[in-house]
Amino acid sequence: MATRLKPSRSRLTTNLANRLWPTPTTAYLPGLLASAELSDIVRAVTEELERNALAAEAAQRGHEASILKLARELGLNPRPAGHNDSAWIADCPRRSHTLMLSPSLNELGCGYCRRKGGPAELEAFADHVKSLRRKV
Ligand SMILES: [Zn+2]
Repeated sequence: MATRLKPSRSRLTTNLANRLWPTPTTAYLPGLLASAELSDIVRAVTEELERNALAAEAAQRGHEASILKLARELGLNPRPAGHNDSAWIADCPRRSHTLMLSPSLNELGCGYCRRKGGPAELEAFADHVKSLRRKV
């Protein structure tokens, strides 16, 4: 007659860990990743950023938002941010950081400079920065 042994707490924990992470790798300390696991995470994040950038560019193809056109004309190098499929960034006219562009709202936002608005505000902001450089 077979008897079922009551599983120990540590065996339950091990079984749960094996269910949650079905392919356990080498033993490591909590909070540390093996280099292969870190590589997998980096690859997954990189692929997601690339997928989002391609989707953001595809969404603008044929009918680019005027805020992106203006940022390009001003030499601010607009490019997909990558963290989702619609966010864009560009160099801030002050050049030391980036600002956010929203093609769907046709707006910019620079938290560092505390500026936001549409194409008119971007153009005025760029002109303002240029005028400050001329005075220096
Ligand atoms: Zn700024």
